[in-house]
Amino acid sequence: MEHTVKIQSVTKITHDVVQIIAEKPADYFFVPGQATDVSINKKEWRDKKNPFTFTSLPDNDYLEFTIKTYPSHHGVTNELLNLRKEDELILGDVFGEINYQGEGLFIAGGAGVTPFISILRYLESKNEMGDNKLLFANKKRGDIILEDEFKKLLGNKLVNILSEEKVEGCIKGHITKDLIRKHCNTTKSYFYVCGPPPMMDAVEKMLGELNVNKKLIVKEAF
Ligand SMILES: Cc1cc2nc3c(=O)[nH]c(=O)nc-3n(C[C@H](O)[C@H](O)[C@H](O)COP(=O)(O)OP(=O)(O)OC[C@H]3O[C@@H](n4cnc5c(N)ncnc54)[C@H](O)[C@@H]3O)c2cc1C
Repeated sequence: MEHTVKIQSVTKITHDVVQIIAEKPADYFFVPGQATDVSINKKEWRDKKNPFTFTSLPDNDYLEFTIKTYPSHHGVTNELLNLRKEDELILGDVFGEINYQGEGLFIAGGAGVTPFISILRYLESKNEMGDNKLLFANKKRGDIILEDEFKKLLGNKLVNILSEEKVEGCIKGHITKDLIRKHCNTTKSYFYVCGPPPMMDAVEKMLGELNVNKKLIVKEAF
């Protein structure tokens, strides 16, 4: 079923990420981590549906999306940069593989952090952050989405990893088996993995080598 909703605001939160707040249709339910297909209600764009994750909380009376834009693709995310208040989005039904199952290690690459925004905000709202940790891989510091908020939510349980920049307080390089081992209990903790396919492949291989039970891995490729 399709829902047409009005945009309430579009805000740039990093050099290439926009946060879009839109109306929430009546009787529209999701669990933190889920997504929907979104298209822009403009001629020529209506049929171009791309999946995006809700980063608001299920109880909020609005929907929030946090979207990395790729102007060079000349596609939907580039067109989102031209949207203004009162423009409209068309939303589909709710879907998505990622939902919170229990304490663990969240491993995100770039915009792959979006399902974890909603989950971690939700846990904070319930006072249930527990021992959850986030390994967050990006190229440069300016690419880190909501760095201040994640610091507030997680304190020293946030580990930023930057592949292309040396910055104090961040690890330079890529996600490694050692980093994963250091930040989790590989026999008990859940592993929430989301990011671009090459990162997902590399992380899943590492989890296999660490003998992590596949049932403990919750994942979605972006
Ligand atoms: C379940 C799910 C949830 C998601 N949630 C989010 C989210 O919350 N936030 C977020 O930022 N992302 C999210 N994504 C990823 C997001 O859907 C894509 O990044 C986005 O749709 C890409 O849009 P686009 O602007 O590249 O345009 P598209 O309209 O998809 O593509 C436009 C053109 O670009 C070309 N193209 C595609 N890739 C490349 C490339 N690498 N280089 C050059 N050209 C290319 C295509 O061939 C196409 O012709 C999610 C993905 C999934 C599966």
